[in-house]
Amino acid sequence: MTATQGIGRVARRTVHHASLAWRDDAECRDKPLGLFFGPDGERQADRDVREEKAKRVCRPCGVRTACLAYAMATGQPAGVWGGETTEERRGERRRQTRKAAPPPVPASQGFTKREADLYTASVHLMDRKGRLLADAAAELRVDARELRSIRRRGRQLSRPASSTA
Ligand code: SF4
Repeated sequence: MTATQGIGRVARRTVHHASLAWRDDAECRDKPLGLFFGPDGERQADRDVREEKAKRVCRPCGVRTACLAYAMATGQPAGVWGGETTEERRGERRRQTRKAAPPPVPASQGFTKREADLYTASVHLMDRKGRLLADAAAELRVDARELRSIRRRGRQLSRPASSTA
């Protein structure tokens, strides 16, 4: 099964009336589904590598915007869609719900000044301007894995105390 066939199956289960014509022009048409959807219990390191490969397929895809919009609208719980991982889409959803709130600034504990600055810059580039992790990392001249780790920790630190209890 190819990626778009897989995406099509999910789509048919979730939104019957939505137009899915964009799938015909998908860059992932002939790519394996396993590149976009990882197996259960996938190790984080393997997941990082797989997702970056999937994103490379998405980057030049002409229907990326429609694909991402579809995934966001239907709340796709897994997979890389429109060049974004599940975690990134969750971040985007959180960003949309907190649109009026000021940018999160992580507490100083557990973060060096450099990490805090990188976190804040990544929030600006990714959550506000919609850059992909790899693009933001390149722009900030930091390794993508390090930036991913900083973002994960930054989100934990900036989460309200009530949501971590
Ligand atoms: S953006 Fe990525 S997942 Fe979406 S159709 Fe294009 S290649 Fe496939």
